[in-house]
Amino acid sequence: SYRKGGYHAVRVGDSFAAARFISQRKLGWGQFSTVWLAYDTQTSKYVALKIQKSAPEFVQAAVHEIEILSAITENDPKNEKCVVQLVDHFKHRGPNGQHLCMVLEYLGDSILHLIRYNRYKGLDLIKVREICKCILTGLNYLHRELRIIHTDLKPENILLISTVNPSKDPIRSKTTPILERPEGSLAGGGAVNVIEKKLKQRARRAVAKIAAERRGVIGGCAPEVKPERCLDGIDFRCKIVDLGNACWADKLIAEEIQTRQYRAPEVILQSGYSFPVDMWSFACTAFELATGEMMFAPKPGPGFSEDEDHLALMMELLGKMPKKIATGGGRSKDYFDRHGDLKRIRRLKHSSISRLLVDKFKFPETDAREFAEFLNPILDLDPEKRPTAQQCLQHPWLRQTAAKTVAGKSNLVG
Ligand code: ADP
Ligand code: MG
Repeated sequence: SYRKGGYHAVRVGDSFAAARFISQRKLGWGQFSTVWLAYDTQTSKYVALKIQKSAPEFVQAAVHEIEILSAITENDPKNEKCVVQLVDHFKHRGPNGQHLCMVLEYLGDSILHLIRYNRYKGLDLIKVREICKCILTGLNYLHRELRIIHTDLKPENILLISTVNPSKDPIRSKTTPILERPEGSLAGGGAVNVIEKKLKQRARRAVAKIAAERRGVIGGCAPEVKPERCLDGIDFRCKIVDLGNACWADKLIAEEIQTRQYRAPEVILQSGYSFPVDMWSFACTAFELATGEMMFAPKPGPGFSEDEDHLALMMELLGKMPKKIATGGGRSKDYFDRHGDLKRIRRLKHSSISRLLVDKFKFPETDAREFAEFLNPILDLDPEKRPTAQQCLQHPWLRQTAAKTVAGKSNLVG
C-alpha cells in the first residue's frame, strides 16, 4: 500500500505543515490511512495525525470526513460531547502523491484493547456503565444535534481518553518530544553524535517493542494507555472516533453499512435505515464489553449464507422477526418465506439475553436481569421501536451507583 495513491511513509521526526507537527510514533492504521502521534510545536501538545492515502477516492473520503468532523468540533466548543475533535487539517505532498491530513485530538487505546487486556472475560458492570454513558452521550450529540449517523460503531472505534502524557511514558525515551530527524540531519551534529543517537534509538525501540509485546499489540494500533491504569480507574471516559463512514441522515451514502457483527437487521434486509442502526451497534458493543464475547458472530454453513445465519442468531436471542420487517425489505425474499420464517434454517434454539448471561457468562441473576432489561429494547428487531440515545440515557440501569451494585451482589451471596 506504500505506493502511488497509497499510504504516505512516515518516519519518526518527520515534519508536517511547515514544521508545525513532528511525527513521534505510529498509533494505528486503517484501510484508508495511517495515524501518527505528533508533537504540535505551536501549542506544545500531542495530537493524532491521520494521514490519508492519496488516490482521488481517498482524498474525497477525507474531504467528507473533515466536513463531518468540523461540524462535530464547531458545535461542541467545550469538548464535552464524547466525540473526537478535529484540531486542523492540511495537505502534505510526498513521493506517493498529495495526502490530506487530519489533525485530531490525541486519545488512548480502544475499548477493544480493554476487552483483550482483560482476557476476554468482560469488564465489571460499573465500568461497562461508565463506558455506555459516554457512548450514548456521543450518539445523542451526533443524532439529535447534528443529524449524523456514525454507521460503524464497534469497540475498535471507541477510544479511551488518554490520561498518559506520551512524553512521560517511562518505557519511552527521556528525550521526547522528538523535534528533529533521528539521523540528526537537521541538527547537524557530528558523526559520532549521529551514531550514538542511532544506537540509543535502536535500544529504545527494542525496549518499546518488548513492552508492547508484553502488553499485547494487535493489528490496527499500538497500545498507549496501559491496562493497569485503565482497569483501576473508575472514571472511565471515552470518545467515539472514526467518522470515515459517517453520513448525514438526509443524505445516505451506502446501502451496505456497518461491520458484520454489529450490523442491524434492517441493513441485512435492505429495508432502509437511520439512527437506530447505531443504537443496535451500541447494544452489541455493550454486551461485548460486559461478556468479552461478540453478541453475534455469524458464519456461513451448508446451504445457508452468513446473512441468514446472522438473522437466525438474532431470532434465537430476540424472538421472531416481526412480519413487516421479515417481508418488507429489498432482500426479504432471499431469506424469509411468506409466513416470516427463514427459508433455509428451520430449527432455531430459542434463548434470551438474560438466560445467556446467567448460563454461559455466569452472571448473578439480578445483574443478568437488569442488564438484559437495558439491552432488550435497544435490540428491538423493529428499528422504529428502538429507544433513542437520549431515552437510553434515562434508563435506570445507567443510574445505578457502584454502591447499589455491590449491595445487589452481597444480597445474592447472603
Ligand atoms: P481509518 O478510517 O483508516 O479506519 P481510524 O480513524 O479508524 O482510521 O484510525 C485508525 C487507528 O488509528 C484507530 O483504530 C486507532 O488505533 C488510531 N487512532 C485514530 N484516531 C486516534 C486518536 N485521535 N488518538 C489516538 N489514536 C487514534
Ligand atoms: Mg477505522
